[in-house]
Order: sequence, then structure tokens, then C-alpha cells
Amino acid sequence: MKTKIYDVTALSPETMRRAQTLRERDAMEIVKRAMKYVAEAARVIAAGGLVAFPTETVYGIGANAFDEAAVRRIYAAKGRPSDNPMIVHIARASDIGQLTPMISPAIVKLADSFWPGPLTMVLDRKSSVPSAVTGGLDTVAVRLPDEPAALDLIRLSGCPIAAPSANLSGSPSPTTAAHVIDDLEGKVDIILAGNPCRVGIESTVVDMTATPPEILRPGMLTADMLSAAVDAEVVYDKALLQGGAFSPECTASPRSPGMKYRHYAPKADMLVVEGSRDRVEAEIERLKDMNERIGNKVAVLLFEERSYIEAAHDFYARLRALDEESPGLIIAGALPDNDGAGFAVMNRMMKSAGYNVVRV
Ligand code: AMP
Ligand code: MG
Repeated sequence: MKTKIYDVTALSPETMRRAQTLRERDAMEIVKRAMKYVAEAARVIAAGGLVAFPTETVYGIGANAFDEAAVRRIYAAKGRPSDNPMIVHIARASDIGQLTPMISPAIVKLADSFWPGPLTMVLDRKSSVPSAVTGGLDTVAVRLPDEPAALDLIRLSGCPIAAPSANLSGSPSPTTAAHVIDDLEGKVDIILAGNPCRVGIESTVVDMTATPPEILRPGMLTADMLSAAVDAEVVYDKALLQGGAFSPECTASPRSPGMKYRHYAPKADMLVVEGSRDRVEAEIERLKDMNERIGNKVAVLLFEERSYIEAAHDFYARLRALDEESPGLIIAGALPDNDGAGFAVMNRMMKSAGYNVVRV
């Protein structure tokens, strides 16, 4: 398939402000062109095609959520196991009614507080939502993204858009248009090439069918933040607190289907070093030295201390960039954090490394 790649970088709040408020000619032109591209992409979605598009978290690969055949093509394009459910993206909070038969005050509070934004709510599903979207579950995951191109795409297509991350299954999530082009050119109808994703890791997934609500995937929005918004307890899934469902230390069984799979993995072997900063740095040096002496090329993934939001923003891009150097081994420094962005990055880092960790 020939993939059309359209530049929609103009649909950034800054350029749109220049076009709308300041009425700058150049800005108006490029915004108009980008809107035309999005309108064409929306027609492709409505006709059963596949479109990759930017969101504030990571890029998504989308199809009409009510078109079962189109949704199945997403699994094929990604090479994704078909029991791994997708997130359904909406453009207005009231569209939630197309997907779920009932909402609670807590759901309304979370939507009011965090939408548009990096929060996905797992809700009871209406039977009209194809089971291809939900991986056969009787719940559906819903999110309202905070990205103009995504919102326009959903609005103009006239349907909710089912969209997992726009990477090949198992490879790091895409946070730039170049990542998406690398993975999906030739496999989708259109790639909307926007700006790099502002957040850089996937949304927080909270199961609202559980009491108390349970976070199944950590993200930028934390349990404390959700708790404060609903004025009631919101907890992390036990498996997450034990390092993730695949961690050798974990005794709880996975609640979120996506947790079963080894995700986000670079091509190289990967090892995480955990401990105090000084010791981590020393151990990484020691391991690097040792391995290089036997001819094993080593790449190091170390983020600035306590800059967790930045680490989240860069994590996947760094993994992809390191992989391009074709090292034999990637050694990563852990981020010590038990809630928040560092915790969310560690969830991905441990998965990427297949829970291969040394403590110093
Ligand atoms: P992605 O679309 O690649 O960001 O992955 C979506 C993730 O959301 C899945 O891997 C699941 O872990 C989670 N998810 C989606 N739908 C559900 C659901 N109905 N119940 C539990 N988890 C879900
Ligand atoms: Mg994904």
C-alpha cells in the first residue's frame, strides 16, 4: 500500500494562535493546508481506512471504532496479538455515551479534571462496541486526547477512533513522526506527521469498573492526582506495585491484558542497574568496561537525576536512537520513584529490559 505522509506540524497551539488571533498570513496558509490533510484523513477513517496520527502521549494508529473489519486491519498492520485491547479516542466527553451504558459521578469528575489529557478510563462497554476493539473483554478503554490534529480527526470522521500506539508490536512506542514512518510506512493509508509528542509515554489507564478504581498502567497522572480529583481512594493494581506482572518478584496476576506481553523492547539485550545514583553510575562504568573488553558494544541509557518528566518525554526516542547504534547491550540506570513520572518510566524500562535487573 502507498502511504500518504502529510505534514500537520502547523496544528500546534502556537501556530494556530498566530493564525487565529494574530491573523498572520503564513501561519494561516499552513494551518489551512494541515486542516485539509486532516479532513482527508477523516474521510479515510470514515471509509474504513487506517490513519496514524499524533497525540500528546504517543502516536496512534487509528480506525473507526465501530468498523470491525477496519479495526482488525490495525492488528495486522502492527503485528499485534488480537486479544490486546485498544483505546477508543473521542473528541467530546459526551461521546462517552456511544461506548458505555452508564457513567458514575467519579467518571464525570475524572473527565472534568483530566480530559483532554493523558487519562484512559476502562468502562463497561455497550454491546455495539466490536469485540475486536476490546480484545473480547466486556469493558472498553476510553480517552479524550489533548492534541488539535487528533481532536479534529475524530470530530471530522464522525466516529470514535480505536487506536493503539503506532509502532510495530513489541518495538518502542513512537513519539515522533519519523518513528511512525519507520514502522508503518506502506502499512497504513495516511500518516499525519505532526510534532514530537509532548508527554512521551502512554496514558494512565484506570479501571473504573473496580472498587476502588484501580490504575492498570501508570502514566503522568498519578494515583494521588486521581484520588484528589474524585475525593476517594484510587489504587495501583497490585502487580504494578510489585514491579509489573512479569517481574520475578510479582505474585499477583495481570489485570490489564497488555501487561502480559513483552513490550517496548529494543533490539539489543538490555539490563537495568538499580541503586543509589553514585553506585549506579559506578556499576554502569564497570559493566561497560568489562563488556567492551570482550568486544561487546555497550550503549548507556542514563537520565538526569530527578528529571523524571524529561525522562518520560525522551525515553522511547532514546531507546530507538540507541538501537540504531546496534549495540550488543544497553545498560540503563533506574529512576528511583514510587509514584509519578519516574514510576511510570520504570514500568516501561523494566518491560523493555525483560526484568533483567541488578541491584547495587
Ligand atoms: P496502547 O493502545 O498500545 O496504548 O495499549 C492499550 C492498553 O490499554 C492495553 O495494552 C491494555 O493494557 C489497556 N486496555 C485497553 N482496554 C482495556 C480494557 N478494556 N481493560 C483493561 N485494560 C485495557
Ligand atoms: Mg502500545
